[in-house]
Amino acid sequence: MARDLFYHEIVEAIGKPGCPICNILEKEERNTLWDILYERVNDPGVRKKFRRSSGLCRRHAWRLYELSRRDPLIGEPGPAIIYRDVLETVVERGLWEKPIDGECFICERISESNEAFIEEFAGKAASTDLLEVYENNKSSILCRYHYSMILKKLARIDKKSADRLREIQGSKIKDLINALKNFIETYDYRSNRRPTSYESLSTFLAITYLKGSTVLDVINK
Ligand SMILES: [Zn+2]
Ligand SMILES: [Zn+2]
Repeated sequence: MARDLFYHEIVEAIGKPGCPICNILEKEERNTLWDILYERVNDPGVRKKFRRSSGLCRRHAWRLYELSRRDPLIGEPGPAIIYRDVLETVVERGLWEKPIDGECFICERISESNEAFIEEFAGKAASTDLLEVYENNKSSILCRYHYSMILKKLARIDKKSADRLREIQGSKIKDLINALKNFIETYDYRSNRRPTSYESLSTFLAITYLKGSTVLDVINK
């Protein structure tokens, strides 16, 4: 397996704090919403998808709304145009009396990417220097969900790499516990040192490791 686009995207995500796969999925979620608001308010294909789900799932409908409110470059009336169409469709189809909606296409897209990146992470871990890159980036830690999915796949491809991943993950967790301890100690009145940047990230990383990003709500519904 070569160092293709997947490899580079994973390496880039490992360079940022948190779970690399959760980070990739969050970025995809953000980009999809932006793309709709910037470019596709009047796109018939997108309209159809919005109609099918009566305006996306709850999470993505609110994200779209918040994004449009936050970014002065987007603003109104993009979401108003989209939701007028959805509302008219709901009335036309008699769905105002039975609130059953089709699948949200952004959720579908994220679930597909999730599968693809788990597969690619495992593949690249067995055939490139990916595990080394992961090990060397202290503030990158796979969440428990992604770790267990990747480990399962990797164990089937290459047992040695799976053992290596297990070792790396174990030592990342140990480092994290230490960092939390040291971080707490810097708040002691006898302490005269400030937390390191890794220690300052330790609470974020602990929650990331244990729970993953909220983008996982899309997958583990
Ligand atoms: Zn994750
Ligand atoms: Zn959704």
